[in-house]
Amino acid sequence: MSILSTVDAARARLITSGIQPDEAGLDAEVLARHLLGWDRATYFTARHQEPDNRFATTYGALVERRASREPLAHLTGCREFWGLDFLVTPDVLIPRPETEHLVETVLRFRPDRAAPELIVDVGTGSGCVAIALAVELPAARIVATDVSEAALEVAETNARRLKVAERITWRRGHLLAGLSEAADLIVSNPPYCATTAFSALEPEVRDHEPRLALDGGADGTAPLQALVAEAGAHLVDGGRLVVEFGYDQEADFRRVVAAHGLADTEIVCDLQGHPRVGTAVQRGGD
Ligand code: GLN
Repeated sequence: MSILSTVDAARARLITSGIQPDEAGLDAEVLARHLLGWDRATYFTARHQEPDNRFATTYGALVERRASREPLAHLTGCREFWGLDFLVTPDVLIPRPETEHLVETVLRFRPDRAAPELIVDVGTGSGCVAIALAVELPAARIVATDVSEAALEVAETNARRLKVAERITWRRGHLLAGLSEAADLIVSNPPYCATTAFSALEPEVRDHEPRLALDGGADGTAPLQALVAEAGAHLVDGGRLVVEFGYDQEADFRRVVAAHGLADTEIVCDLQGHPRVGTAVQRGGD
């Protein structure tokens, strides 16, 4: 049986496990290429070959793990974000495309990318946001916090691999606790799933990703509210907060930033059209 036929059979197997057909086809191909060390172009020219025996056994085992709904990124150990390749383990949230809007929004307010500044990334996880910003803003210093030591280790490894480690300081702690220097920008993708919505999440997310990174309390907005409450005191005058939230949390964001005196609120929608990122500015001195 050729590699292509093996991948086709794996696709059918993944569909029977409840994975959508498009995703099943892509996952079956990505797992094969991961084992073979092939890029897409090589796969398309060489997929009619017969695989060796080792491939057949190892691939079968990986496909079964995916069929039991382990996330693809846990099987390959990596995920692309902002065009960069991040190592991923079960200790960190797998970087998601919608979180690229956080990076995009920050950059929209940074016409001079070479300006020196201090950025704080709250709940850094894999480090994807902190590292993407370090890559895009070459004069920025970044402090990245997380309550999880294991997550900080993954993030630090990613920063070293992507060659921005010297500009990022890692800090274990809750939200902005212990940060004394005022920041020019605070960015965060906090946990924002409502506890009550947990059972309805896809098994990949519910059973395999860190609950700490996802669970935002009863209605999902507790971390968002706590972060906004602390942010003003940790921003310079004119400093900006940029935060990701759930598709139904725009009103909560608007309410809490207004309650804490942050101004110039703007909302950015994701590619599905859901409000996903909010930004507001600390205007002190009154
Ligand atoms: N967008 C993620 C999901 O729906 C949630 C991420 C988060 O809570 N920060 O799985």
